[in-house]
Amino acid sequence: MKKFLLKPPEELVTPAGHRFRILRHFCKGCRICVEFCPTGTLDLDDRFKVKVAHPEKCVACRMCELRCPDLAIYVTRAKKQKGQDGAES
Ligand code: SF4
Ligand code: SF4
Repeated sequence: MKKFLLKPPEELVTPAGHRFRILRHFCKGCRICVEFCPTGTLDLDDRFKVKVAHPEKCVACRMCELRCPDLAIYVTRAKKQKGQDGAES
């Protein structure tokens, strides 16, 4: 797939540790991701490309990734941290 990527994705890590990769040149500004996001995390910028307007709101449900028709946005959920007793929190 890499040879089709004209530019590297923009990357952003939210305060909770979820990781966004956004391929701006794939985004056509249709707002589907903005409308489907249940937490109001996303918006479009002044060039009609998706932007992570409120990264602290993202719950990593991946609805934006699953609904984007142009494969322009990807979300990777933060890994769960293990406590000292080895239990995941
Ligand atoms: S759904 Fe995809 S193409 Fe549409 S605005 Fe969001 S990232 Fe861009
Ligand atoms: S992963 Fe979920 S909460 Fe985060 S921006 Fe996408 S749709 Fe919104």
